[in-house]
Amino acid sequence: MAKFPYQPWEITEQGFSPRDLRENESVFALSNGFIGLRGNLEEGTAGADSIQGSFLNGVFDSEPIVYGEKAYGYAKNHETICNVMDAKGLIPCADGERLDLCASDVRDHRRVLDMRAGTLSRSFTWHTKSGAVLKIEMTRLVSLTRQELAAQRFACTCLEGACALTLSGSIHPAVIAEGDPNDPRNAAGKDRSLKTLRTAADGDLIAMAQQTKNSGFTIACAILLRGLPVSTEAQEQSALWSAERKLSAGESVCAEMSLCYTAARFDKDPAQWEKTLKLCRTAPDFDILLREQRETLDAFWNGVGLDIQGDDALLQGLRFNLFHIYQSAGRDGRRNIAAKGLTGEGYEGHTFWDTEAYILPVFIHTDPALARKLLEYRYAILPKARERARELGHPKGALYAWRTIDGEECSAYFPAGTAQYHIDGDIAHAVWEYFDVTEDLDFLADCGAEILVETARLYYDLGFFSAAKGGQFVLNCVTGPDEYNVMVNNNVYTNCVAEENFRSAGEAMELLRLERPEAYRRLCAAVGFTPEEAEDWRRAADAMYYPAPVDGIYPQDDDFLNRKPWPLDTIPADKHPLLIHYHGLTIYRHMVCKQADLILAMTQYGECWTLEEKKKNFAFYDSVTTHDSSLSMAVFSILANEIGEIQTGYDYFMSSARLDLDDMHHNTKDGLHMANMAGTWTGLVRGFGGMRCRRGELSFAPVCPPQWQGYAFRVGYRGRTIRVSVNHDGAEYQLLSGAPITIRSHGEAVELR
Ligand code: BGC
Repeated sequence: MAKFPYQPWEITEQGFSPRDLRENESVFALSNGFIGLRGNLEEGTAGADSIQGSFLNGVFDSEPIVYGEKAYGYAKNHETICNVMDAKGLIPCADGERLDLCASDVRDHRRVLDMRAGTLSRSFTWHTKSGAVLKIEMTRLVSLTRQELAAQRFACTCLEGACALTLSGSIHPAVIAEGDPNDPRNAAGKDRSLKTLRTAADGDLIAMAQQTKNSGFTIACAILLRGLPVSTEAQEQSALWSAERKLSAGESVCAEMSLCYTAARFDKDPAQWEKTLKLCRTAPDFDILLREQRETLDAFWNGVGLDIQGDDALLQGLRFNLFHIYQSAGRDGRRNIAAKGLTGEGYEGHTFWDTEAYILPVFIHTDPALARKLLEYRYAILPKARERARELGHPKGALYAWRTIDGEECSAYFPAGTAQYHIDGDIAHAVWEYFDVTEDLDFLADCGAEILVETARLYYDLGFFSAAKGGQFVLNCVTGPDEYNVMVNNNVYTNCVAEENFRSAGEAMELLRLERPEAYRRLCAAVGFTPEEAEDWRRAADAMYYPAPVDGIYPQDDDFLNRKPWPLDTIPADKHPLLIHYHGLTIYRHMVCKQADLILAMTQYGECWTLEEKKKNFAFYDSVTTHDSSLSMAVFSILANEIGEIQTGYDYFMSSARLDLDDMHHNTKDGLHMANMAGTWTGLVRGFGGMRCRRGELSFAPVCPPQWQGYAFRVGYRGRTIRVSVNHDGAEYQLLSGAPITIRSHGEAVELR
C-alpha cells in the first residue's frame, strides 16, 4: 500500500509510524522563503528519533574551516544555516499525562499537508489514562504573505469523561544537528549553539533574542497566545508559557499561537527587538492568515495550471515538488533557495547552481516576479564574487562561489567545488533566459547586464586562444556539472555556457545602449565597460573550442574518452553513491559520470547537435552515468523524449517525480532535493511538452506517454499565458491572456489569438 494515499492536493499520513518520523518531518516541512519549520510534532516524541528544525533562510553561523594541509586561496569559512530557537512546541497534558504518540493511547491519527491551503493539520482522539476521550486538532501555517510570521491553532473537544487539560510550550535555544560526518552531503557535528541575549515574558507573550557566534546575526523570536488565559515566565535560557482548562464531556477549547521571527545582521536594526514584539502582538487572526495563504497559493497554482490525467500518484508527486520549491524560495532579493530548501540541514543550507539551472526555469515561466528576486540575490552577492575572482588570480570579472549563503565560497573541496566555473555561466544563462521570457529591461538595466559583463570577463580571463588548438578559445582546468570528472580541459557544458555568456553580455550592453542610454552610461562608468571588450568576447565566442567527436561520441571534456572504462554493472549495488565508497582518485581516473553533463548541454543548446548525434550520445552517456546526483535523471528524461525514446524518458521521469515522497534515495530525512523537484516540472514541460524557447521563438513538440490519458500545463511568455494540453489525439494551445503570438508545434507555425 502506498505510504501516502494518492490524493491530488494533499499528502496524508494515516496513523503514525515512528520509523518514518524523520523523513516525514522533511515531507511535512512548511516555509515561506524566510521561516522554515520542519514537520516536527508539536508535542515532541520521547520514544522516536526526530530531527528538530526551525530555520531562517540566509541566517547562518560561520567558523574557520580547519584544513590538515592548507594552501593559497582555499575557502576560509564554513557557513552553516542556523537551526534557530524552537517555538513550535505545544504540549498537551491531561490530568498530568503528557501526550506522546509513542506511549499514549492515540487513535485515528492523521496528518495532512494541504497544498492549496498551505497548512499542515493533524487530528486524532486521545484516550487518556484518567478515562477522558479528547478529540484534538492542530493546524500550522507559515505565512506566505507575511515573511516574519507563522501560526498554529490547537482545538480540543472532550468527547467523554472529564479532565484537567494543560497546554505548554516555550522558546528554547537551538538544537545541534546530527547526521553522518563522513557524508559530504550532511552538515553533521558542527557546534552551532547561539548565545542567548535576552528573554521576556509579558502577559500572553514570550520572546527571546539570540546571537550567532561569529557571523553577526541577531535573531529574535516571539510567541503570542490567544484564546486561553496563559501564564508566562522568562528564564535565563528560555521563555515558557502554559495554560490550563478543565474540560467535561461536550466542552471544547481553542487556542491560537502567533510565532514571529526576525533576523538582523551586524546590529543594523537597533529596533529589532521592539519590532519583533510588535509584529507578534499585532499578528492577524489565524483565519485571516488562512485566507491570505489560500489566495496566494491559488494564484501560484493558477500560474502553473498543472494536470495529469491517468496517474494520480504522479500528479500528487509533481504538485508536492512544486509546492516545496515555491515555499522555499527567498522573496526579498537577499535570500535564495538552499539545495534542501528550508526542510533540513543537508548541504548546510547552501545555495548552488541548482537554483539557476533547475529551479529558475520553473519560476521564469510561472512566477517571474519570484524569479527576479532570486536573480537579485546574485546581484547582491556580486561584490563577493568580484573579490573571489581577484583571490583566484583573475584581474577582471567575478567568480561566484560554488556553494554559499552570503556569497563567500564555502566549498572546502575545490576540485568538486570552486573548480565548477560553470556556476558563472549558469547564472548568466538564467539572467538571459529570464530576460528573453519576460523582456524585463529594467532588470537588465538594474542588475542583469552587470552580472553578464562580470561573468563574461571572468571567462575571457580564464581562457585563451590556444595555438595548440589552432587558435581556438579554450577553458582549461575546470570541473563541469559532473563531479566525477574534475579539473578537466574544455568541459563541453562549461564551454557552452561561457560562449552564450560572451554573446549575451555583448547583446545586453548593446540593447541598453540603444534602449536605455542612461543606464548604459552609468554601467560603463561603474564597471569600465568598453565596446572593444564586447568585440573580444565575440571573437572568443566564435572561436570557442569543443572536443571533436570520436566515432560519433562527443567527449564531455578533452580526455573523457581516454579514461579507464568502469562498466556500471561491475560496481556492486551497495557501493553507490560512488562518492562515499571510493577515493576521489579512483573515480576521477575512470570513464564514469555522476550526473548529466553533455546531456544537459544537449538539452540546453539543442541546436548545436543533430538528432542522430543526440541519439548516439544519449546511448553512450546513459551507459556510463551512475545518477548518483538527484539532479541527473530529469535531464536524461528530457533528452530521451526529444530523441523519441518515450519509454526511457518516462522511466527516468518517474524515478525522479516522487523521489522524496517515496524516499527513493533514503536521505529525505536530511531535507528534500529541491533541484530534482524543480527538474520534474522541466521534465514535463520541456521533456514531454518539448518546450524550447531560444532567441525569441517559443516552440513545443508534445508527446503523450501511453501510461497517461493526457496532461496540461501553463507557461508565461513575453506577457502572455499559454495553456498547453496534450492527449493521444494531439496538443491544444490556448492563449489565456496577452497579445496574439506565433509559436511552433512540432516545427509547424501556429498562430495563437
Ligand atoms: C551535485 C551538484 C549539486 C549539489 C547540491 C551534488 O550532489 O553533484 O550538482 O549542485 O549536489 O544539490
